[in-house]
Amino acid sequence: MATLSQTKTFLNYINGHWQVGSSNETLASINPANREVVGYVQSSTREDLNEAVLAANQAQKAWKKLSGIERGNLLYKAADILEKNLDEVAETMTKEMGKTLPEAKGETARGVAILRFYAGEGARKMGDIIPASDSEALQFSKRVPLGVVGAITPWNFPVAIPIWKAAPALIYGNTVVLKPATEAAVTAAKMIECFEQAGFPKGVINLITGKGSVVGQGLAEHPDVAAVTFTGSNSVGKQIGQTASARGAKYQLEMGGKNPIIIANDADLDQAVAAVLSGGLKSTGQKCTCSSRVIIQSGVYNQFKDKLVAEVKRIKVGNGLDPETWMGPCASEEQYKTVRYYIQKGIEEGAQLLIGGEAPEFPELEQGFYVNPTVFENVTSSMTIAKEEIFGPVLALMKVETIEEAIEVANDTEFGLSASIFTKDIGKILTFIDDIEAGLVRVNYETAGVELQAPFGGMKASSSHSREQGEAAKEFFTTTKTVFIKG
Ligand code: NAP
Ligand code: MG
Repeated sequence: MATLSQTKTFLNYINGHWQVGSSNETLASINPANREVVGYVQSSTREDLNEAVLAANQAQKAWKKLSGIERGNLLYKAADILEKNLDEVAETMTKEMGKTLPEAKGETARGVAILRFYAGEGARKMGDIIPASDSEALQFSKRVPLGVVGAITPWNFPVAIPIWKAAPALIYGNTVVLKPATEAAVTAAKMIECFEQAGFPKGVINLITGKGSVVGQGLAEHPDVAAVTFTGSNSVGKQIGQTASARGAKYQLEMGGKNPIIIANDADLDQAVAAVLSGGLKSTGQKCTCSSRVIIQSGVYNQFKDKLVAEVKRIKVGNGLDPETWMGPCASEEQYKTVRYYIQKGIEEGAQLLIGGEAPEFPELEQGFYVNPTVFENVTSSMTIAKEEIFGPVLALMKVETIEEAIEVANDTEFGLSASIFTKDIGKILTFIDDIEAGLVRVNYETAGVELQAPFGGMKASSSHSREQGEAAKEFFTTTKTVFIKG
């Protein structure tokens, strides 16, 4: 039985109250499996945003005075409440953005685990004792909060990403204004209800929904927002970074990927195929860490290709709520059109389509934004499908002779988020670890997925070079005071 209260029209959560936006307009969030409306969210204005920032700013003074342990206790409570409502939140996620129910449940459970990790951070050290030149003095560093943090998040991980930004921001004494992606704002509202039920003081965490160009851009511009943490596309991220830096605010951008997976001649091919399927096609290829370029040494090329295509053929595409479904629809019509555009581009530029490229033929799926899993071969680095992030279930196979060539091809991209190699050769593994340009380096493991306790972020155009998650989050969400006390 549902214990969360909101059902169809979702409000902003500002200063401890659920309230309508001042425009009196809403935006519909659509189920990509059948085009039904999942819910309506507020199309907020700059005035609504100002109210949320003001509330967060006022609340921060008392929030930062609490001990880390007191703040942690509230995060533990939010974790328990989210866990209790896991099924409802996960089902909403599947309906709203299409990932399968087991994936949505896994992500919500991850949100619970992240909350508990950062709740524990409240009891850990926040500085160091540093020797002073004067023997009668005490010198130490102390991590302190920044103030109001604006979090702007994408639709592909509607629970995990808002939580991996909000939880560290909160535990270190900041207050938060969250602007979730419109495509996933209903799920975000349900998640925020868990924070409300946990009893956070009013204004400490606020939710404001609406257009990115209005409230997202507004957060980046707002003089009282001390820091902006963003996950999303490169074009939007760049703009947010420029806006925030122009007014001297701290910012953090996690953006796209074009993640390579290298299959060496000595790879365990069954393991490698499983990793390409899971890391490339789960969540309909809509993870920033998804494998999209599969770089295969010529000695195993044909064998690997045949095994992969045989497995892709078996994938069942359908509504994520159906337990038989392996892969759901694209998250939105826009995403569906983008994926179809790239498939067409691949064909036009001379890549060979091995399988997929079409919408599934089942009549009951006609209303949804479905694309069959798609594999191209004879892809070269200069082709658009090897260069640009597709964010869909499309794999590009590329044949190489040597591992050195494989690494060169892997690095031939503006992105640098995640990369993997399948080999048993320790020499090749060490070369790969040294030479690959990626923030996440995987060996005999898929490119997708992150460990909540480890630093996460990309190199090159994939990020603004700071790291999220684990203890690394402390770097972004705090600043340091160096204290010198003369005895
Ligand atoms: P997006 O279009 O960049 O949107 C991300 C967020 O920014 C949304 O909340 C969006 O609001 C908002 N936004 C849009 N225009 C804005 C503007 N002018 N100013 C401020 N905010 C604005 O990205 P998406 O399509 O949701 O997500 C897919 C992208 O996210 C992919 O490129 C993927 O690689 C990336 N991603 C990266 C990571 C990572 O950690 N590196 C993780 C997941 C996803 P609206 O929804 O209202 O437009
Ligand atoms: Mg939707």
